[in-house]
This record gives sequence, C-alpha cells and structure tokens, in this order.
Amino acid sequence: MASPRPSVSLRPEIESLPAYVPGERPTRGRQVYKLSSNEVPFPLLPAVGAALADAAVDLNRYPDMYATELTEALGERLGVPAERVTVGNGSVAVLENVLRSVCVPGDEVVMAWRSFEAYPICVQVAGAEPVQVPVDAEGRHDLSAMADAVTDRTRAVLLCSPNNPTGPALTQTEVREFLAALPRHVLVILDEAYLHFVRTDDPTDGVALLDEHKNLVVLRTFSKAYGLAGLRVGYAVARRRLTAGFRAASTPFGVNALALAAALAVLRCEDEVQERVRQVVIERERVVAALSGQGWTVPDAQGNFVWLDLGRRATAFADLARSRGVLVRAFAGEGVRVSIGEPEGNDLFLEVAADWLARTPA
Ligand SMILES: *Cc1c(COP(=O)(O)O)cnc(C)c1O
Repeated sequence: MASPRPSVSLRPEIESLPAYVPGERPTRGRQVYKLSSNEVPFPLLPAVGAALADAAVDLNRYPDMYATELTEALGERLGVPAERVTVGNGSVAVLENVLRSVCVPGDEVVMAWRSFEAYPICVQVAGAEPVQVPVDAEGRHDLSAMADAVTDRTRAVLLCSPNNPTGPALTQTEVREFLAALPRHVLVILDEAYLHFVRTDDPTDGVALLDEHKNLVVLRTFSKAYGLAGLRVGYAVARRRLTAGFRAASTPFGVNALALAAALAVLRCEDEVQERVRQVVIERERVVAALSGQGWTVPDAQGNFVWLDLGRRATAFADLARSRGVLVRAFAGEGVRVSIGEPEGNDLFLEVAADWLARTPA
C-alpha cells in the first residue's frame, strides 16, 4: 500500500566531501604527548583565565552580536578601521563565510596541495570546485603554477603561509608579485594562521597589502600562537565592501561570550604571547637541527610543526610514535606532521625518529 517514499538527497558536493581527519587525541589515563594538532603546549595565561571567570557570570545573556569590542581592539592592533574585520567561530568558519559570500556553482578555487585539509571541504561546501596545484619538492607553494591555474572560472585563490602541513612560508615580495599578476576580480585569501612563528627576512604582512589590493582577504586565528584553540576565534581582514558581505553571511552570534572575553584578554598579553612563541621557535630550531643530524631532510619549518616526507610509510611511522607515547598527524601516503610541543615530548619524538631510521631502510 505504502509506496516507498523517495529519500532526501544530499547535494552531490556534500556526498563527495573528503572527511576532515582531526589530530589524534590521547585516550584517558595514559601519559602521551599530543603533537598532532599544532596546538601550543602552554596552559591558559592567568589574565585570560580571570577574564573567562568574569565572563562566565553573564552566560545567560547572548554575546554582542557584532563582537564590537573585539573587532575594535583588532582594528586598533592592526592599524585598520574595525569595519575591515570579520570575526568568527575559528578562522575556518570565517573562511567558510568568505567562500560562501563569493562562490557560485561552477566556480573554481585554486589552492596549493598538500595544504590545509579544511580548504577543499570549505570550497566544496560553498558549491565550488577545488583546483589543487602541487607544492614543489621543498613543500613550497608553486606560485607560478598557481597563477597559470587561474582560468575564467576561478573565483578565488588560497595561499597558506606558513603552509600547513609542509612548513615553508611565503615572502611578502612573493605575495605582492602574485597579487600584481592576478586579475583583480579574483579574490586572494592569505591564511596567516602561523604568522607569529615565522623567522624569515621577509615575512608576509597581508594587512599591509590591503590598501593596494582590494581583492585580498587575510585570515588570522587565536588558535595557534595565542593558545586558544579550544575556544574557537578567528578573523578576516579585508576591504570594507567585502567585509560587509562576509559579516552578512556569518552565523548570528558566531563567536561565543567566553571566546570574546578570552580573545580580548589575550590581546592585552602580547608580551607573554611573544615569549611563548620564542620558546616554541627555539624548540623548533632544536628539533630541526636534531632531525638533520639524524639524516632527515626537513622542509623549512616556519610554523610550530615539522614535516617528514615519508610517503607510503607515513602511517607506519605514526603507529610507531603512538606505541612510544607520541601522537603525530599522519597524512596517509604522503607524510607526517609533528607539532612542536613541550621539550620532553619533542625529545621523545626525536628518539622515535632516530629509531625509525635505524630500523627502516631508506
Ligand atoms: C590551525 C589552522 C587554522 C586555524 O583554524 P581555527 O578555525 O581558527 O582554529 C587556519 N588555517 C590553517 C592553515 C591552520 O593550520
């Protein structure tokens, strides 16, 4: 009697989404070093903890929908009007809003690959198609190949500097030349999630390029150097007209009250943040030097992580590391990304890396 009802279909882009593989988490009760998600290893700064406690008193109230105080504080810090800042529930959520604001079906979004695994997912959810341009042998963006990949269908280009997971950073000169070579209707999204950790002569400063380039969006986050990954706050800086669109497309009250309070508080702790970043960079240099000493070739590591190009043996390496109490992030068939953690965790990782070379023929 009852004829079978047709079932609800998902959009084809959603059906075919690659799964986001999060960094492995420790199981309860076992001492492990979690070097799998590029978090910093430090506890909450005391001033941030105090701000959170204060904010918790008012959690029956909605937060400020427009995050006015935070966008103003960011604007002041960056030397731009607050009208250029869009905040969101992590910079990945901001990226989703940016892409949803500009993409129509059939559009292409050019990105380096391997790069941040959230990118193709965000692009497909926005109804567009990712176009992946391989990074070079050193894990760097191949900017000329990326420029060549731009077609009439290209709506946006994603640049990730330093590149997660391979490590190298773009220079400001490279970004400037890339912008100059691109058609002005193509949006360039520069993701500077790891900017604090960069120690090159010519680091990117996307915000400084906004006056010259109307088609630029800069993404930054509180998840990495600021140590607030669990709270979820990130932001985009762009010209006013685009920002108005990104804001309109954002989830109402997209940044929760605790996250707003913590982000404001941590912005007032820049000295402590810089000191922590300095410690991470010292550890990074130590880990990179030790790996090179062991015989590994490591791409230029400008974030808070290193990349081991292990190809097919990536998962086996991650299994060995796990058995020794270190969680790393394996990209099956490609390599392993290892975050810089506390010195003891880094030491344990270096022991695993040495043992791996001793037991595995190159
Ligand atoms: C970690 C990371 C981010 C930050 O994402 P949030 O959503 O702000 O936590 C953004 N871009 C890249 C490349 C990252 O690795």
